[in-house]
Amino acid sequence: MAASDLINLSGLIDDAKCFALVRQHRWPEGVRCPVCDSGSVIRDGCDDTQPCRQRYRCKACSGRFDDLTGTVLAGHHQPLRVWVLCLYFMGLNLSNRQIALELALDTSDVQAMTEQLRRGLVAKAPAVELQGEVEIDEVYVVAGHKGQPAAVAKRGGSGAAASWQARRDGARWRRTSHPSSA
Ligand SMILES: [Zn+2]
Repeated sequence: MAASDLINLSGLIDDAKCFALVRQHRWPEGVRCPVCDSGSVIRDGCDDTQPCRQRYRCKACSGRFDDLTGTVLAGHHQPLRVWVLCLYFMGLNLSNRQIALELALDTSDVQAMTEQLRRGLVAKAPAVELQGEVEIDEVYVVAGHKGQPAAVAKRGGSGAAASWQARRDGARWRRTSHPSSA
């Protein structure tokens, strides 16, 4: 598909609905102040250049914020609808390169966007360093289903008691004690 078709697609996306999506996702029970977490918040006009981006004022701490304040979506030069489309394409398992083609962006820009979106649409999480060992153990647990599904189900299937910690320890035990059991 030609990139120009998808530029048109981007143009068809409704900005108002994109901001409504962020609000719904971020504040499912009503707007709260990102500074003091008060729910005593009043609307305070809209962004000067993005009329669908609602501004707010907190009555508790007098702080001012808007729909995107404190999120990975704030302060970027891409319009929100491009982020939403990017998220949609990620859901279709498109590669960064494919998404870049579809949205007529640089691959490096798309890579930065998808990395941020994977941390959450609106949650600005601190950069988390995953521990390689943990990742490998988790994969190993899944792989264990193939050989001994009943044993794995027993270890991992009983709700809260079968904590991730227990499964991780189980996987580690199996890996070190039964390297050839599968
Ligand atoms: Zn506040």
